Amino acid sequence: MKICDKENCSGCGICSLVCKKNAIIMQEDDDGFIFPVIDETICVSCNLCYKRCPVNHNKKRQPLDSLAIIGNNNSLSASGGVFATIATRYLQEGSYVYAATLSKKNKKFIVKHQRIKSVDDLKRFTGSIYSQSDITPIIEDVKEKLILKKKVLFCGTPCQVQGIKNYVGDDNDNLLTIDLFCHGVPSNKMFNDYLIFLEDRNKRNINCFTFRDKKRGWGLFPSVLFDNGKRKIYANTSSYYRLFLSGALNRTSCYNCRFADNERVGDLSIGDFWGSQEFIELQNRDKKNLSKTGISAVLVNTELGKSTLYEYEDDFSIYSSNIESIAEKNDAIMRPTKKNAFRESIMQVYRKEGYTGIEQWFRNQFARQLFFSKLKNIVCKK
Ligand SMILES: Cc1cc2nc3c(=O)[nH]c(=O)nc-3n(C[C@H](O)[C@H](O)[C@H](O)COP(=O)(O)OP(=O)(O)OC[C@H]3O[C@@H](n4cnc5c(N)ncnc54)[C@H](O)[C@@H]3O)c2cc1C
Ligand code: SF4
Ligand code: SF4
Ligand code: SF4
Repeated sequence: MKICDKENCSGCGICSLVCKKNAIIMQEDDDGFIFPVIDETICVSCNLCYKRCPVNHNKKRQPLDSLAIIGNNNSLSASGGVFATIATRYLQEGSYVYAATLSKKNKKFIVKHQRIKSVDDLKRFTGSIYSQSDITPIIEDVKEKLILKKKVLFCGTPCQVQGIKNYVGDDNDNLLTIDLFCHGVPSNKMFNDYLIFLEDRNKRNINCFTFRDKKRGWGLFPSVLFDNGKRKIYANTSSYYRLFLSGALNRTSCYNCRFADNERVGDLSIGDFWGSQEFIELQNRDKKNLSKTGISAVLVNTELGKSTLYEYEDDFSIYSSNIESIAEKNDAIMRPTKKNAFRESIMQVYRKEGYTGIEQWFRNQFARQLFFSKLKNIVCKK
């Protein structure tokens, strides 16, 4: 039984959940990515896993509208806080919200989707985590809530959104999905190894890692919370961040991504609207605060997405836009990320030497650039 080609599999785990014979387990490969493995002695060739796989079955739609939005709950969000603002309303109304979060258990860092318990709890679920999140723990719960006719909001990468829809049945009016413009994901294992490497190097425990620290403004500003306080780090000198941005650490499916397109699977699609000032005349207040609040590019793909935004319009500053302006500085909605020429050698180093090998490789390879990046960071100091 073959569900889809390995290089296209996004590792969503939906196949393992739909198999009534429990013939599929999700297993980590040598690079830390999760893939399904089928026990052929149990499989009865019913084909259900094939039918529910988001790679084989996806329904993409041309957006109805393209907008630029700043939500009123954006202080911890990666960009304009569209997710956090809608999630706040859902939670206040007693509806259900599922999103990704980073936690630490038994000295291991885990990225997974969970149900958000309250508006206060939402803090743990805002911001971007540039590593694969496991959605399997929440899928059954999402389905149960929908069977009970509860309103559900799910936010994640497009392959996850399509996976959820294939599991619960497409076009359920109670399920609002938000997909992210998506550059790709490194494995949770590699991200964990990077954080452990930082802990060892600094001889400190890490309580939290933030890829987009809004206290430093809207941009790619990471910070790490050690047990003795918070420390700024820099995207251009962090091996993990820089290699992620250069397309060297992604899952193979991300380089062949079927969802990196301006036709979308979620009700709404959100990303950073880099360079928005070139295209949009912002109101004075928004212009003044832009470097703090950020602004989201939003594709409105369904009537449900549209009615949700207008129902909560008092919570947003909404500007009209178009897909060409949004795509100008955002490749993720036009084409998959290009595989970095070094990816295979980096993975080989990782297999042999673990994350310390990657760090060493990075320091050697980019010695000169790192020297100038460090100087620039000292001068700019953000
Ligand atoms: C792996 C990844 C790659 C991305 N690539 C791009 C890109 O190339 N271009 C671009 O414009 N935007 C990209 N984004 C989206 C961008 O970083 C912001 O998440 C987006 O603008 C939403 O901002 P917000 O302020 O509305 O959301 P917030 O209020 O910050 O909420 C963030 C939402 O993202 C979800 N999320 C965070 N990490 C993950 C994860 N690992 N897996 C699944 N869901 C997650 C959270 O569950 C939460 O619902 C990417 C995000 C991720 C996670
Ligand atoms: S074909 Fe059916 S029995 Fe076999 S692995 Fe897939 S879902 Fe399970
Ligand atoms: S993409 Fe998801 S459903 Fe398809 S084979 Fe991979 S893990 Fe299974
Ligand atoms: S790039 Fe595509 S396959 Fe990779 S995580 Fe994003 S949506 Fe999924």
